[in-house]
Formats: sequence, C-alpha cells, structure tokens
Amino acid sequence: MIDLRSDTVTRPTPPMLEAMMQAKVGDDVFGEDPAINELENKMAAMFNMEAAIFCPSGTMTNQIAIKCHTQPGDEVICDKLSHIYQYEGGGIAFNAGCSVKLLDGNCGRISAEMVNESVNNRFDVHKAYSSLVSLENTANRGGGACYDFNEFHFIKKVCIEKNLKLHLDGARIFNAIVAKNEKPSDYSKVFDSISVCLSKGLGAPVGSVLIGNKDFIAKARRIRKVFGGGMRQAGYLAAGCIYALDHHVQRLAEDHQYAQMLGKALAGKDFVGEILPVETNIVIFEVKGRFTPKELAATLKDHDIQTIAISHTQVRMVTHLNITKAMIERTIKVIGLL
Ligand SMILES: *Cc1c(COP(=O)(O)O)cnc(C)c1O
Repeated sequence: MIDLRSDTVTRPTPPMLEAMMQAKVGDDVFGEDPAINELENKMAAMFNMEAAIFCPSGTMTNQIAIKCHTQPGDEVICDKLSHIYQYEGGGIAFNAGCSVKLLDGNCGRISAEMVNESVNNRFDVHKAYSSLVSLENTANRGGGACYDFNEFHFIKKVCIEKNLKLHLDGARIFNAIVAKNEKPSDYSKVFDSISVCLSKGLGAPVGSVLIGNKDFIAKARRIRKVFGGGMRQAGYLAAGCIYALDHHVQRLAEDHQYAQMLGKALAGKDFVGEILPVETNIVIFEVKGRFTPKELAATLKDHDIQTIAISHTQVRMVTHLNITKAMIERTIKVIGLL
C-alpha cells in the first residue's frame, strides 16, 4: 500500500524506536520526566520563547491555547477552513464556551485587513467580545499553503491595537519553515502561543508541543490536567519527538518535491479540475467528469494507492516520511493510465 491519506500515518523508524527505548523517564505530572523536560526546553529554545508543554495531540495543544486565551462567551477569529473549527469536534464551544467568526480567506490564509474588519466593537453590548485570532501555517485544507511572513506582522499589529491574542496552529510549521527558509525564532516575534505537531511529517508516533511565555504555559499545565492530558512516563514518546526534531526536519524538502511531482502528474488529466498551488507536502485537487472524488479514491485504492476524498469535490494526497521516490513514481504511472 502507498498511503497518501495523511502525514499522520508514519511509523517510527528503527533508530527512532531505539532512541525511544533509551529514554530516561519519570512522572511528568510531577515534572520529573527527563525526556519530556528536554523536549519542552528544546522547543522553547528553538522558538526563542520562555516555555513549552508536551501534549498527546495537536487538537489538545490548540484547545488548551484557546481555553487559556479566552473567557466563555468570547469570539475566536479564524479562517473558515481552520482545523480548530473544522476538525476539533466543536471544541471551541465545548471546551472554551466561545463562538467563532469565520473568515473567507485565500487557501486557509486570512489577511490583516480581514482581521481588522472582523473585530467586534468592544463597547457594543450586543456583540461577543473578540479576544483571539488563530492562524494556521501551513494551512491544511488550503493545500498546505504558507503565509507570507510579513502578513503575520501586519496581523500582529492589528491584534496589539485591538487587544487580541494571536495563536498559531503550527501543526506543520516545520514544512513552512523549510519551504520558505524561515527561522523558528522569527515566530516568537509575532505569536503569543504556537502549537506544533511532531506526529505529522516529522514522523514521531505521538506528540504535540504548545509553546508560549511562562505564565501562559503554567496556565496551560492546569488546563492540560483538566482535559485529562497529564501523562506519566510519557518520555518514551518525547524521545521519539526529540529524534524527529534532530533528524527529520530538513528531509521535509523531499516530501515537498514529491508533492510537486504528484501535482504535475495530475495537471491536465481530464478528471482533474483546479489543483490548489502545491507549496509543501499536500496536494488538494478538484475531481470532475468521469469520477466523483470517492470513485477516484476507490479506483486508486484498487491500485494499492490510498488517498482521501476530503469534500464532495476534492481529493487530497499527502507526502511524508514513509513515502519513497519509487512510490511516487508508481503513483504517477497509475495516474497516467487513468
Ligand atoms: C493534524 C492537525 C492538527 C492536530 O491534530 P491531532 O490529530 O489532534 O494531533 C491541528 N491542526 C492541523 C492544521 C492539523 O493538520
């Protein structure tokens, strides 16, 4: 099977497993797990922020951030395709008691101007209190689109003027960093909190990290416990994440190259409509004519290629650590025959 459904399907490599086996562990709720402490310190230092906290999923890191930055009844501003809105089980309402203002951005990216126009007048008692803006980089449902870093600065300026916090869902932040040749520390100049997944293209089996200042992370630690995310000897997982950070960041460029190859193979096929610009490791394209998205995914599966029909009109392919050049070549061959 060639599994292009998601970059979450990766399995730990033998050296990653070895690193996990060697982990020094302790009770992390007591703050005594050396591997988790190392991972949290490493991520905080890398992003030039004060502190970090290890969590079982990116949904949890995002939801903790939203809960920490808001009060019940507040409004969260984000793109309509955002993971926090589309794929976190209604958690913004369930966990934080907040409503959302959904913006119609460009491939999952919103602009400073749009944010500025969407902030509610805080003196109008009819309106929910706008307290948080959440951005996504790369934007998953936007086809792995990356923000222009200047836009972050413009959005930050609006947030300062209007007294809003700014969170980044950086599930695939390293894809953006590699694709756009950015420095992780640049992000600390803009965001109040950053959520990073190690379990996507970086290939760790489990784990996400939330990064922010000391007070924010202290609050996040309390919320993590309430959410049931306080783990004990989870350093075995953190060791896999440390290994991923040390060995699997630069190779993301390879995933991006393979995604480009898939995009080129799809272009011009009669059953393919609009292909979202391929900037990183995600290829999202419209399916038309001879196939519905579900039929195309089923046909590819008959050829041992797994993809996902992500909407009534689109199919998604994602490249990752376990996808080799030979697999890409075989997929391209099959696409050519359809
Ligand atoms: C995968 C993902 C998350 C977190 O997902 P988990 O499966 O809960 O780790 C958050 N945001 C985006 C954009 C994602 O793609």
